[in-house]
Amino acid sequence: SKFFANIQELPPDPLFGLKARYNADSRADKVDLGIGAYRDNNGKPWILPAVKQAEQKLINSEGYNHEYLSISGYEPFLKESAKVILGEDSVAIKQNKIVSQQSLSGTGALHLAGAFLKNFYTGSNEGKVYLSKPTWANHNQIFTSLGLKVDSYPYWDNDNKSLDLKGFLNSIKQAPNGSIFLLHACAHNPTGLDPTKDQWVQILNEISQKNHVILFDSAYQGFASGDLEKDAFAIRSAINNDKIKTPIVICQSFAKNVGMYGERVGAVHIINNEDNYETINRAIKSQLNKLIRSEVSNPPAYGAKIVATVLSDAKLRSQWDQDLTTMSSRIIKMRNHLKQLLIELKTPGNWDHITNQTGMFSFTGLTPEMVSRLEEKHGVYLVSSGRASVAGLNEHNVEKVAKAFDEVVR
Ligand code: PLP
Repeated sequence: SKFFANIQELPPDPLFGLKARYNADSRADKVDLGIGAYRDNNGKPWILPAVKQAEQKLINSEGYNHEYLSISGYEPFLKESAKVILGEDSVAIKQNKIVSQQSLSGTGALHLAGAFLKNFYTGSNEGKVYLSKPTWANHNQIFTSLGLKVDSYPYWDNDNKSLDLKGFLNSIKQAPNGSIFLLHACAHNPTGLDPTKDQWVQILNEISQKNHVILFDSAYQGFASGDLEKDAFAIRSAINNDKIKTPIVICQSFAKNVGMYGERVGAVHIINNEDNYETINRAIKSQLNKLIRSEVSNPPAYGAKIVATVLSDAKLRSQWDQDLTTMSSRIIKMRNHLKQLLIELKTPGNWDHITNQTGMFSFTGLTPEMVSRLEEKHGVYLVSSGRASVAGLNEHNVEKVAKAFDEVVR
């Protein structure tokens, strides 16, 4: 090309490419275990009853319109979303230590947080972002596209299908002071393996010793255990840990836990622990505003209004709690069912990890060759790492999937 001399066509995105192959497959009994989106027992997308009711309430409310939001976003959403992640009685909120900015779901939150840190973080010379190994496929390119350096810390011990805590802690110790550590707040993607409470305490203490900055990715609050409070344990422990003096950045997505994937509802919350935090927070807010203004001008309104409605209405809020239980318990039931079937089939290997893991995904341990045979021979689609979205399983397809796993493993 005369005008795009260095351009090359890229292969399709692994996940969205998988979705395209699945859609093109004409087999009636194909199964989609690829993309991380909740499905009901008939394999259909599910609009949460809390969301349906909130939509009705919102549309019928006086003054409902489609005007622009302010650059920071929808104020009631920002207030409620901070409360849901930090807790009703959060001291950080009461003391005004938090700056909140609405974002384009979790991905937009990570991108905004990355851009902010790249431009303004001066707590270390290197400012590298450390990601778990493995991690959500998009993390790497979100940060590198901003010109940030990334590195990884050990996380998954493949031999024992458990957390490599020693390697993780060692990485925290070895990283230059003031590095940026991205932590999955709960329901780690892709492994479905979270640190225990005791392990979190060790991890956070080690981080505090090195003055690292924590960047929490919270994409599954309430989705893992069904309990919003439980799934916020890591974040709240970090914020309540007096030894942590560095800023804490939270990237919050409402895609999965309210099932509003395509509406792009999310936020960045920055908790600042410096003495003169009020002055600094005003500067942070103004700079986040500038970034948003140049990128999207102002955040999308509809989804934020729905989520704010759910969060601020006691009846809808309790409906949402129920909906979270519906989703998380169906997934847990499917984990148990799949494992039980594999045991009955005497499929070689130990399958305990399927039920030990939490959240949307199971890191099955299937190899790329097995995954590719699953797709070709059985029409069962998962990403090549062997990560399966358990939400794609239901009473009608779990037996087929178990038999297919059994066939490819033997
Ligand atoms: N972070 C993790 C770990 C995820 O798994 C996802 C979605 O799959 C996201 C962030 C962001 O999702 P969204 O941009 O749809 O909120």
